[in-house]
Formats: sequence, structure tokens, C-alpha cells
Amino acid sequence: MRLILLGPPGAGKGTQAKRLVERFNVIQLSTGDMLRAAVAAGTPVGLRAKDIMARGELVPDDVVVAIVADRISEPDAQNGFVLDGFPRTVPQAEALDRMLDQKGLALDAVIELKVDEAAMLGRIESRVASMVAQGQTLRTDDNPDSLKKRLDAYRAQTEPLTGYY
Ligand code: AMP
Repeated sequence: MRLILLGPPGAGKGTQAKRLVERFNVIQLSTGDMLRAAVAAGTPVGLRAKDIMARGELVPDDVVVAIVADRISEPDAQNGFVLDGFPRTVPQAEALDRMLDQKGLALDAVIELKVDEAAMLGRIESRVASMVAQGQTLRTDDNPDSLKKRLDAYRAQTEPLTGYY
């Protein structure tokens, strides 16, 4: 099972991906999680991505494509994967098509999660509140300015993927 979850920030892609992972015994491949891990570890990719992510902008295609190419070649990805947060641009989708072609694989589905904007902002606010309550470190991009940029980036760069697929 190879799936893509599309949807704006706060749509619940991560939540749904986790359910699908349990149900279908596949891996969740979240580029946002992988990039945050790279930032935390201070790797070259993390250093490149850190400020871009904090601003709510998209990390360059070549960086995320390389991360995904490595990850889907690992043994635990052979049974399938749920892509959560990738692809986010048409060039990323084209790169994914090439990667899958080379492996003789195809996607089973692309699922778009649609949410009401007010509900989505409410979800992000409650995520921030629960992280604060648990004493967790907040995401650097969970603030009003970055959130607006994340939504703008979604509309301008990611929404065209619904036409692509
Ligand atoms: P997410 O956790 O999916 O909301 O991603 C958090 C941030 O990581 C995004 O706002 C981008 O800065 C970066 N990011 C994650 N996935 C991608 C991607 N496929 N392309 C470009 N940037 C990404």
C-alpha cells in the first residue's frame, strides 16, 4: 500500500497517517518529522532547513527529494508507505514519479484532506495549548506569522498537486 496524504497544515495528516500505518502495516514517511529531527541533530540538512522551516516556507525541493529517496529505499519501506507532507510541489511529485518508476512501483491512492479554515486554526491552537500544558517545546513554526506563510505556501505550491494527480 503506497499512499499520499495531501492537506493544509492542521488538517490531521499526521493523525490519519498513524492510523493507516497501524491498519496496513506500512511506514509513515513525514518529511516534516524527518526535517525536524535533522534540525535537532544539527546535520547539514538540518542547518540548511532550520530558518526556512521557522519562517513557514518550503525547504528546497532537492533537499526533501533526497531525504525521501533514501528513506523509501530502506528495507522497512518495502511493504509500503504513507507519505505525509510530501510531495508539496509539482517538481517533488515529478521526482517521486521517477523514483517509483525506477523501482517498478506505483501509488495506490492520493487522498486530499479538506478542512474548514476556522476548524484548522482551532486544531493548531489546541495543539499548541496541549504542548505548553505538557511542558513540551513548541514547534518554531506554530506561531501566527509562520502559520500564515505555511497556508500561503500550501495554496500556491501544494494545491496544484490535486490537478497533477
Ligand atoms: P509539516 O510538519 O509537514 O507541517 O512540515 C513542517 C515544515 O517542514 C514545512 O513548513 C516546511 O518548511 C518543511 N517541509 C516539510 N515537508 C516539506 C516538503 N515536502 N517540501 C518542502 N518543505 C517541507
